[in-house]
Amino acid sequence: MNKFKNRIIVSCQAEEEEPLHGSDYMKKMAIAAIGSGAGGIRANTPEDVKAIRSITDLPIIGIVKDRSEDYTAFITTRKEHIDALVKAGADHIAMDCTDVTRPEELSTLFSHLRENYPKVSIIADISSIDDVKKVSTLKPDYWSTTLSGYTYYSKNAEKPDFKLLKEIISQSDIPVIAEGNYSEPGQVRKALLIGAYSVVIGSAITRPQLITKKFTEFVEDLKTRETNKAIGIDIGGTWIRYITTDIKGKIIKSGKVKNPSNSTKEKIFSTLKNVIDDLMSPDVKYIGISTAGRVDVSKGKILFATGNIVDWSSADLGTFIEKNYDIFPYVNNDSNCAALAQFYETEDTLDSLALITVGTGVGGGFIVNGHVMNGIKGGSGEIGHIIYPGNGKKCTCGKTGCIETLINGKNLLDIFTDEKKDDEKMKEYSEHFAWLIDTMNSTIEVEKIFLGGVILKYGDEILNSIREEVIRINPFFDPENICFTNSGEFAGCIGSAKHSILHPSEVKNE
Ligand SMILES: [Zn+2]
Repeated sequence: MNKFKNRIIVSCQAEEEEPLHGSDYMKKMAIAAIGSGAGGIRANTPEDVKAIRSITDLPIIGIVKDRSEDYTAFITTRKEHIDALVKAGADHIAMDCTDVTRPEELSTLFSHLRENYPKVSIIADISSIDDVKKVSTLKPDYWSTTLSGYTYYSKNAEKPDFKLLKEIISQSDIPVIAEGNYSEPGQVRKALLIGAYSVVIGSAITRPQLITKKFTEFVEDLKTRETNKAIGIDIGGTWIRYITTDIKGKIIKSGKVKNPSNSTKEKIFSTLKNVIDDLMSPDVKYIGISTAGRVDVSKGKILFATGNIVDWSSADLGTFIEKNYDIFPYVNNDSNCAALAQFYETEDTLDSLALITVGTGVGGGFIVNGHVMNGIKGGSGEIGHIIYPGNGKKCTCGKTGCIETLINGKNLLDIFTDEKKDDEKMKEYSEHFAWLIDTMNSTIEVEKIFLGGVILKYGDEILNSIREEVIRINPFFDPENICFTNSGEFAGCIGSAKHSILHPSEVKNE
C-alpha cells in the first residue's frame, strides 16, 4: 500500500455549518483533487467516504468527527465509527491518539481494527512527541501530525509543525504523514525533504470561504485604515524634518526645524516631542523615524552612532515614542529609509535597488525583493566604511581607510571650488566612487543604484564621470543603471512613514 508515498493527500471536509457541507460537494472536491494529481483523500463521515469511494480506487483516509461535550478526543473515537467507515470504503482509518479524555480506550479501538479489518491501515493523529512515545506500543501504521496545536499541551507549536515532524522521523521507524496548517507549496517541499511520507492539505484547497478570506482581509484592512495617517520624521545633523502621509502616500503636511549643533539626546527627544505633539491627531496611527547610526529595528533603538549628536548611541526611540503616544515606531537608519522612499516610488518597476547617500559621510541602503536589508545589528549597507586598499585616512568610525574619507561631501566641494572644476580631482573622485559601486555590485547585484544627498547639486557632470569610470573598470556594467534619486530632502521621512503605514505587521518583526 505505497500508493500515497511522496504524494499529496487532499482533505475534503465540510462540517454541518459550512457552505459546502454534503457528500455530493465533497465527491466533486475529490474529483477535482484527484484530477490534479492528489494521491489520496481524507474524508469525514461514512457518507462522504462512500460517495468518494464511488469515483476512485485511491487510498481514502476515513474519519468521524464527534464533538461530544463529555470527551476531548474528537476524531474517530468509537468502534461503531470504525465499522461504518470501513463499510463505506475507507482503507485507512485515522484516529485521535493524543493524551486526552475519550469514550473508548485506544487499545480497544486498535485491537478492534486489527482483529476485524487486518487490511485496513491505522493512522495515529498526534500533537506532540510525547503522544508518539505513549502510543508507540500500539504500533500504528502511520503517524500524522494532524493535531499539533489542538491539544492544550501543543498550543504554542509552530505552524506547520516542522519541528515535530523532524522529531518523530528521528525517533520512530513508522512513516510520518505531515498534516496541519500546510497552506503553501513550499511548505510541502520542505516537509518531504525532511522525510515526511506524504503531506495532507486541507483548508488551503477545499475551504473556499477561507481562501476568499485570505484576499478580503486585505480589502477590509485597507478600508478600516483608509483615514489612518502616519508621521515620518528624519533626524539629521542640521535639520529635523517631518511629514504626515496617508495610506495612499499623499503628503499632507511637511516641514523642518533646526537641530542645534552639539545637540544632545535629551534636546532631540524634547524637540521630537514638540514636533509630534503638533502633528498628532486621532487619525495618526503610525510613526516612522529615520536617523543616523546603526539601528536595532525590532527595538527602535540606536546601537551605534557617530557625528554631532554627542550621546546618540543607545538612544531608545522605540520606548520613548511608545511611552508618549502608545505607538511602536518604525525606526531605521536614514540611508535605509531613503532607499525605502525610492523603492515605494519605483515599486511598480523595480524589485531591488541600492541607494548611496553622500553627505558628511557616505551611507547606503539595499532593497532586495521589496525588503530593506538591515543586518543583525543594523550593519548592512554601511558601504561608506568599506576599506579602500592603500587608503591611510582616519575615519570617524574608528577604522582607517574607509572609502567615505575619499568620496564624502567635503571631497566633492574640493573638486568644485570657486565655480572652477578641478578635472584631476574629479577623475580621482569618480575612480573611487566607481570602485565602491563595482564592489557593491559584486556583493549584492541590484537592478538600479541610486545616488542621493549633496552629490545631486553637481548634476550630470559628476554622474557621467562616475559612469565612465565604472565602465572602465567593469565593461559589463550598464551605466544607465546608475542614476540620481528624485525623492528629495524628505526621503527619510517618506520612507519611514510609508513603511510604517503600509507594512505595520513587519515593523516589530524586522
Ligand atoms: Zn569608517
